[in-house]
Amino acid sequence: MNIILLGPPGAGKGTQARKLVAERGMVQLSTGDMLREAKSSGTAMGNKVAAIMDAGQLVTDDIVIGLIEEKLEGDHAGGFIFDGFPRTLPQADALGALLEKHGTTLDAVIEMRVDDDALVARITARSTCGDCGEVYNDQTKPIPSDGKCSNCGGTEFKRRADDNEESLRTRLMEYYKKTSPLIGYYYAKGDLSSIDGLGEIDVVAKAISGVLDS
Ligand SMILES: [Zn+2]
Repeated sequence: MNIILLGPPGAGKGTQARKLVAERGMVQLSTGDMLREAKSSGTAMGNKVAAIMDAGQLVTDDIVIGLIEEKLEGDHAGGFIFDGFPRTLPQADALGALLEKHGTTLDAVIEMRVDDDALVARITARSTCGDCGEVYNDQTKPIPSDGKCSNCGGTEFKRRADDNEESLRTRLMEYYKKTSPLIGYYYAKGDLSSIDGLGEIDVVAKAISGVLDS
């Protein structure tokens, strides 16, 4: 089963994707992770990505699609979660064509709806474990009172430098301009399910499971 988690920055897509990986053996394909991984892989494609990123340029859709294609060729019995891709209509078309070429389909697009004000409050409260990347939130999932990561026991926590309100509003604007049209696109294709992304992590996870198991 292949799915897209769609929603504004800070809606909790990464957190839910990690749960699906743990609980359903799915493979999370996050563009950022794929690019970082490619950069350090030493393959021809990886060197190309490294050169572009080092020059401060944007990686083209073709390259991202190429990286996804490499993943599709590997073992993926549990299916893929696309997290942060596609971000634009042309990318959505390209992904559809790629999946078709590999004889597979998109089974669900899950829109995580979040109120903008709540989103700003939530994202500025976010931190991650410096060792394993576990995501914490001052409001919904605070760092344990003993100061140790519940996942790995690490004691270093980071706040993303861009988790401030102004940069969030800039990223939200990008989302509304370029990515939110995908909601209509996938609705028209009959793939879209919308859930309330604002609840507790487990409540949201249950809503996602409800879509996947229906
Ligand atoms: Zn940790």
